[in-house]
Amino acid sequence: MRTHDRLRIAIQKSGRLSDPARDLLARAGLSFRESRDRLFCYGESLPIDLLLVRDDDIPGLIAEGTCDLGVVGQNVLEEQALERLEDGRGEAFRAIRELGFGRCRLSVAVPNDWDWPGPARLEGLRIATSYPQLLARWLRGQGVAAKPVVLSGSVEIAPRLGKAEAICDLVSTGATLLANQLKETATVFESQAVLVAPSTPFGDARADLAAMLLRRLDGVLSVRASKLVLFQARRDAVPGLLQLLPDAEPPTVMAIEGQDNQVALQALCRSAMTWQRLEDMKRAGASGLLVLPVEQMLA
Ligand code: ATP
Ligand code: MG
Repeated sequence: MRTHDRLRIAIQKSGRLSDPARDLLARAGLSFRESRDRLFCYGESLPIDLLLVRDDDIPGLIAEGTCDLGVVGQNVLEEQALERLEDGRGEAFRAIRELGFGRCRLSVAVPNDWDWPGPARLEGLRIATSYPQLLARWLRGQGVAAKPVVLSGSVEIAPRLGKAEAICDLVSTGATLLANQLKETATVFESQAVLVAPSTPFGDARADLAAMLLRRLDGVLSVRASKLVLFQARRDAVPGLLQLLPDAEPPTVMAIEGQDNQVALQALCRSAMTWQRLEDMKRAGASGLLVLPVEQMLA
């Protein structure tokens, strides 16, 4: 029986979510002693340990209480949630934070040379996928009757093997589809990595550990996109400039010694500062524009 004075987080052992998940936890101040088999990593800086597993196992590990938190794609989580619902097993886990990495979409793709009048084109066909639940839900929503053919991998070669006419698979750049003479026609589900937790709250020391980790993660997540913008402007240009920064916190406005009409401003901006936005600000009267990354933030 494991003691409940340590928190255990499941992340993908090796794959697309491994490095970003470890990076996120490191930024939240977690460090680990690697074990020889690299399946279990003992938390050194805090009583928070890691279990390195296949991503598909993560929702189940949370549901059965072997792990307390996990990092997994919404695609895997939602597929397994629908499966549980169908089996009458009830809700056991839920996503508690979107993590902003591992973005992809579950899409229907068909051979390049097909015409595509719309989802009705799939009526009566076989569609190869590793996500039969998400696909079936989408087909129901479209009022289309097609048959999911479940494959655990290499879904994109199913049409060439004669196993299915179309596929429903994860896409990020589309390169795999292109290489297999397929074209993306409809998005079934948009996904990114999420932090997953059990549906019922922890009733012991893990609750405090989880709350602390979440506070830190929120800091890390909001810092990621945030930039500190410094600039100067004439006082009368300030209202116009602030309209160009709708996502900024109320700025600090400072007087400049010996220049009554001119002020220096400092604003924390919550989304990307593009070149376009900087050029617009310059035209609106900003000078000396400086955009700085934010290292840490604790609200
Ligand atoms: P495992 O051995 O852990 O089961 P896997 O082959 O299922 O690995 P990966 O290919 O590493 O997993 O993908 C993990 C997750 O990364 C996916 O479930 C999805 O959420 C996300 N992802 C982001 N972009 C893509 C993409 N282009 N193709 C597949 N998955 C993607
Ligand atoms: Mg997997």
